[in-house]
Amino acid sequence: MRRLVRETSLDPANFVLPLFICPGEGVRRPITSMPPQCQLSVDTAVEECREILSLGIGGVILFGLPESKDEMASGAYDDDGIVQRAIRAIKREVPGLLVITDVCNCEYTSHGHCGLIVQGDVDGYVDNDATLQWLAKSAVSHARAGADIVAPSDMMDGRVGAIREALDGQGFIKVPILSYAAKFASVFYGPFREAAESTPQFGDRRSYQMDPANAREAMREMELDLAEGADMLMVKPAMPYLDVIRDARDRFDVPLAAYQVSGEYSMIMAAAANGWIDRERAMMESLTSIRRAGADFVITYFAKPAAALLG
Ligand SMILES: [Zn+2]
Repeated sequence: MRRLVRETSLDPANFVLPLFICPGEGVRRPITSMPPQCQLSVDTAVEECREILSLGIGGVILFGLPESKDEMASGAYDDDGIVQRAIRAIKREVPGLLVITDVCNCEYTSHGHCGLIVQGDVDGYVDNDATLQWLAKSAVSHARAGADIVAPSDMMDGRVGAIREALDGQGFIKVPILSYAAKFASVFYGPFREAAESTPQFGDRRSYQMDPANAREAMREMELDLAEGADMLMVKPAMPYLDVIRDARDRFDVPLAAYQVSGEYSMIMAAAANGWIDRERAMMESLTSIRRAGADFVITYFAKPAAALLG
């Protein structure tokens, strides 16, 4: 009877697994703060993707760890960059799997910020408009490599419009934009920064990410992104922001994603490792809560074990 009257269901098709692509061959480098997640080279990522497809998981989202970083984030929009190579390999070897790419610069800049740093009166700051050009070039190079969806995560103003225009200009009219529209300046990103080696070398990202206290502002950010041409919206993190997911669900009719971020994952894994919590139940309850709040799909490090459990 419980099954008959259940309001919220989980399906592997609603999960997206983040993958961290690193240089080399045969690499599976454990991310110690997010066990058993690993940084993967292109070839091992392809192997991983075969398994992901066989589990019925909705897709992957790719993050890149380039060979080298510089002030201009040139690895982000290089057609032979790490993510571009991974997209081509995955689309060639595992053609049925949906590939989303994260579009940002922080993994590619030597200073770890999401954009071009210019010197101000007191301090350096991120130049919004110059950064838009890098983002547009990155999105186009991902689409050229075969990405199914591009997902800008930088939170610069005007980025969705700039990316849409660049994609359309290059003939990629069918590549949708999943906008990290409500991305909060959260402490829960901590373990990810080890995974993606993207900790800012100075300052923080509070000038371009959102204040955790502001839900109405999140709605405004989402409205702006839709007006610029976003096809799907994302709330990040997920569990501390279930009210924002619900507000967005009630207000907007486009597909809505939520990112259950590294810290949300690692807290459950750490507590389970200590025997303080039941890992499987915590995993399923957390995913159910995010879906119940209104997310159509969940970007989650639990994608594989949850899909396996759902069978
Ligand atoms: Zn970034």
